[in-house]
This record gives sequence, C-alpha cells and structure tokens, in this order.
Amino acid sequence: MPEAGDYLLTHVGFSKKEEPTLLLRRGDELIAVQPLGHTMTLSFDKSQRYCTGWYDMRAGQSHPCPDSMMIGEKYEQCPPCQQRTGFNPAFYHANSVSAQQEERNLEPHFLYLAHFADGLVKVGISHAARGRARLLEQGGKKRPNLRNVPDRTHRQTIRSTNRCATKHRRNTFATKKDRCTI
Ligand SMILES: [Zn+2]
Repeated sequence: MPEAGDYLLTHVGFSKKEEPTLLLRRGDELIAVQPLGHTMTLSFDKSQRYCTGWYDMRAGQSHPCPDSMMIGEKYEQCPPCQQRTGFNPAFYHANSVSAQQEERNLEPHFLYLAHFADGLVKVGISHAARGRARLLEQGGKKRPNLRNVPDRTHRQTIRSTNRCATKHRRNTFATKKDRCTI
C-alpha cells in the first residue's frame, strides 16, 4: 500500500488478474494499488481536475501527463494526451483513426451484454486480450459474453453489434438460452 499523502487518482478499474485496481500518480510516477483486503481512507479535493495521462496501446502501458494539464469537467485527458493515446471509441463514424487504433481494431474482440437494471442493457465490444476486466469495470449485474469476433472493424462485427443492440434494446436480458443470433 502507498504511504499517506496527496495523489492524483488517474484510473479505477480491474487488472488482467481481475483484481480491483487504483492507479495513482505522484510526481512522475504511476502507482498501481490493489486495495482488496486492505483498509484505506480516501478523501478527495475536487476543486480542480487534471489530465489522467495517456495510454500506449502498443506497449499496453499508462503514462502520466507530461504537462500535468488542468482540464474541464467534460474531459479525462488533455488534447495532447488524447492524441498520444489515439483511441476514438466512436471510430465507426470517424473519418480517420490513428495508426495504433487501426492495429488494435484488427485484433480479436468479443461482443457482450451488460445488464444494469430493468430496461437498461448495454451491448458492447471489448478487446479480447483484456479478458473480463472491461466487463467488471462496467459494473453490470450480469455480463454474458455473446460472441468472439476476429476484429473490431469487420462488417459482420458491426452488423452483429447492431442486431444485438436492437434485440436487447428494451426490457430484455439474454440468458444462455436466449443468445443473439449473429
Ligand atoms: Zn495530458
């Protein structure tokens, strides 16, 4: 566990080993903390937001913002760190994507449903190498994996996602017996 002090909370998620993980920044250092089984007290100074840094998709490594930029409420990253990361989740409608995202999109992904509450089901797609970490981060009550797909850009993948989204748009939830036809 890190020593008591002031840190910038840059990420809350799960590791590939499915451990809850906080990523804290102190100076130029990023510290991954697994709080499970420990008692810790956190207090937050929300008077100013700072850039959470950037992520190197090729190396699978997070980096602190080199400029420690202050940012507005709508954002998590400063524009230069967004550009360094080069990830656009709405790339289906973008005119172009970064070279690193193009490479990432060509790697295996899987479609999933995340059930949050009555009438609220999300259809998503996640990078297969992340395992269940993305599903755990969603915080859904149940998270069935629907199908593995060879990449994120293939027409069939997009069509499958849209079909599942249409089928599960309303108060429905896919069980093992009620999988999407894709
Ligand atoms: Zn930044």
